[in-house]
Amino acid sequence: MGKHREEVARVTVADLAGGPLTLHVTCQPRDIDLSDEEFVFPDAISAEVHFELAGSEVRAWGRAVTVAVGRCVRCLGETRTVLEGRMEVLFEHNPDLLKPEIRNLGLEDGSVAYFDGEAVCADAEMRESLLLELPSLPLCREDCRGLCPKCGADLNAGSCGCPPEDGGGWKDALRQIKVQ
Ligand SMILES: [Zn+2]
Ligand SMILES: [Zn+2]
Repeated sequence: MGKHREEVARVTVADLAGGPLTLHVTCQPRDIDLSDEEFVFPDAISAEVHFELAGSEVRAWGRAVTVAVGRCVRCLGETRTVLEGRMEVLFEHNPDLLKPEIRNLGLEDGSVAYFDGEAVCADAEMRESLLLELPSLPLCREDCRGLCPKCGADLNAGSCGCPPEDGGGWKDALRQIKVQ
């Protein structure tokens, strides 16, 4: 129990008995196990999650915002991307579905989760919503000119003086092969 991290976006059904609740959350990325191999998350996460009882189920929706720092795919410079994740999930109360072997099936559908009937926690949904927003090809800026393929100079800092790629070399040869 002591090793278990504290849940961030958590409410109990008793909390919701009096009506819907909105949680304003500020937490560190590690608090919701937010991590990625290609990006780091230097800033806090700020989120707003609404919870509402719907019969024996709990509906939760909201947004989470933070920053991801990565590497530009063209020049390898630093990129900063503001992530704004949107989440919506229905927590169903079905104790049978909490059994580990069945829980794995449930996780395949991101919009439905299962809870024990007492408390729900939207940390996993918050994490997933942010991971979904990570750019697949991060750029330091839209028109990044990248690195010179010949000398490796950062072309954003100006031309390196290498002769242009076109007009010779293997690429030209390849082009001629394709044309024929
Ligand atoms: Zn770049
Ligand atoms: Zn060059």
